[in-house]
Amino acid sequence: MRLILFGAPGVGKGTQAKILSSKLNIPHISTGDILRQAVKDQTPLGKKAKEVMNRGELVSDEIMIGIIKDTLQGEHCKNGFILDGFPRTLEQAKAFDKLMKDLNIKDFLLISLSADEEELVNRLTNRRQCQVCHNIFNLDEIKYSSKCPNCRSENNFIQREDDKEEVIRNRLKVYKENTKPVLDYYEKQDKVIYVNGLGTIEEINSRILFTLHSK
Ligand SMILES: [Zn+2]
Repeated sequence: MRLILFGAPGVGKGTQAKILSSKLNIPHISTGDILRQAVKDQTPLGKKAKEVMNRGELVSDEIMIGIIKDTLQGEHCKNGFILDGFPRTLEQAKAFDKLMKDLNIKDFLLISLSADEEELVNRLTNRRQCQVCHNIFNLDEIKYSSKCPNCRSENNFIQREDDKEEVIRNRLKVYKENTKPVLDYYEKQDKVIYVNGLGTIEEINSRILFTLHSK
């Protein structure tokens, strides 16, 4: 089974990717992870990526597609994969389709985890970081709002700049603008399945598996 996991910041995409990977027994390919690995392994593309990043620039789609290609050709991906973090723009989607053609892969699906924007804003603005142990928690998920469940220190939570409402609203806006064309593009190919991304981790996971099996 070949899947692309798609969802707004805060929707719990990474968590779902990990669970699906273990339940379906196919590797979770996070573009962030494979990029770091390529740099560490000093592959030809990893070296190129490192140069670009050392200059403070973003790794191009071309390099990223090359690293994805190297990974998907690996033995561990021969029965499928869950791709997380790519494609995020229409240009990337077109490049990804070309890669699928090159690798002779026709069957893949995009799972779009949807969630109400206000709910996501609420979830993300409730994040606090402990200034003592630096762990991040969601106020909705811990027992005491001023006590760290990890190191037990009190009154040491701060809200990071990235978790402030204005920053989050802007990230969600950028996400929507970039990803809407990707969804439209794959919808025309009948490759999108929409799953309600609200609920507990287990509920969402069951929904994904149910939808996959009924597709
Ligand atoms: Zn702590």
